[in-house]
Amino acid sequence: MIRSKILLKNTLALQSLADHVADVDSVADVQDAMEFGRAHGAALSCLGEGSNVILMPRVSGLICRVTRADVMVVDSDADSVTIDVGAGKNWHELVQETLAQNWFGLENLALIPGAVGAAPVQNIGAYGVEVAERLVSVDVVRGDGTAHKMSAADCKFGYRDSIFKRRGADMSQLPLIFGITLRLSKRPAVNLSYRDLGNALGHSETKPSALPSPQQVAEAVMSIRRAKLPDPSEHPNAGSFFKNPVLDGVAADRLRELGATPYAFNDGFKVSAAQLIDLAGWKGRRRGDVGCWSQQPLVLINYGQATAQNVLDFANDIQRSVSETFQVELELEPSVLS
Ligand SMILES: Cc1cc2nc3c(=O)[nH]c(=O)nc-3n(C[C@H](O)[C@H](O)[C@H](O)COP(=O)(O)OP(=O)(O)OC[C@H]3O[C@@H](n4cnc5c(N)ncnc54)[C@H](O)[C@@H]3O)c2cc1C
Repeated sequence: MIRSKILLKNTLALQSLADHVADVDSVADVQDAMEFGRAHGAALSCLGEGSNVILMPRVSGLICRVTRADVMVVDSDADSVTIDVGAGKNWHELVQETLAQNWFGLENLALIPGAVGAAPVQNIGAYGVEVAERLVSVDVVRGDGTAHKMSAADCKFGYRDSIFKRRGADMSQLPLIFGITLRLSKRPAVNLSYRDLGNALGHSETKPSALPSPQQVAEAVMSIRRAKLPDPSEHPNAGSFFKNPVLDGVAADRLRELGATPYAFNDGFKVSAAQLIDLAGWKGRRRGDVGCWSQQPLVLINYGQATAQNVLDFANDIQRSVSETFQVELELEPSVLS
């Protein structure tokens, strides 16, 4: 069903009214939405649970939200299980349900807000794991209304990046994600590479101890996240506002001289955007109703009635300040929908 003039929920608590919204549960629903879009000259875009978007006061065109939230086993053997999941399923619910079945691999990604359909868009990741590591394929509906399966390789996953992210929210360029296929392990093999997580579980390379269970890992991840990150229901936010910059060796050396601590990443280096923002003096700063969270400066908070423009202006000032101090350009992580 297509409805008009609908307020869009988002974790930054921005006031935003969509011209048209279609909640779609089947490929036929998506095709109907596309037909409506063509008939009314309304461009289609996608929205999940609104936890990684900056919504402008008016979002024109037709917003598609996938409601399909089924979980189905499509293959299973002694070592692994392969499941199809509808894009409308809540991500954290999926993590909990898979753990309850003793299907492992998503434990480090516990408590990430949002819907399953958005997970491949920026290749969600946390505590040393990315969803791409478990993704077999992504079910999509293309702009011409046809359904396809894209392999993980087709999705061109990178750090907080995929082919879906590069198209922005415009569906005429690339498709709507209707579901995903994940291969999970039946044998626990926990990833404790992220130092804070290893420490929280009393495990380190120099002091190895018995490995925790995946359920214990998920518990530790949830407790670290609750301690570090503001709850959007109390302090509206969109999670990390900037990506961690990836650098070459020359830039990494320059940053070390300026007091930052880049670390090895793939063939180059990465530096914590939070550290750069902190060193540039933005941690805990606030202007009007927008501010940098005092315990994690990567997170911008809407303290009341901030508009999307207020948030973008504040983010822009941080970007300029970091660029002037470190000659590093910070890239926005959430996408802007207008
Ligand atoms: C407190 C907090 C903590 C967070 N922590 C993390 C973290 O640790 N790691 C991490 O990676 N992210 C994190 N995020 C960001 C966010 O949780 C993820 O990006 C999540 O996948 C967004 O899901 P969503 O359903 O809310 O997507 P939305 O915000 O609704 O949409 C995000 C993007 O995906 C597109 N999209 C949504 N659904 C579809 C679809 N079905 N088909 C095609 N495109 C679609 C939208 O057009 C938009 O461009 C955090 C956010 C918050 C608020």
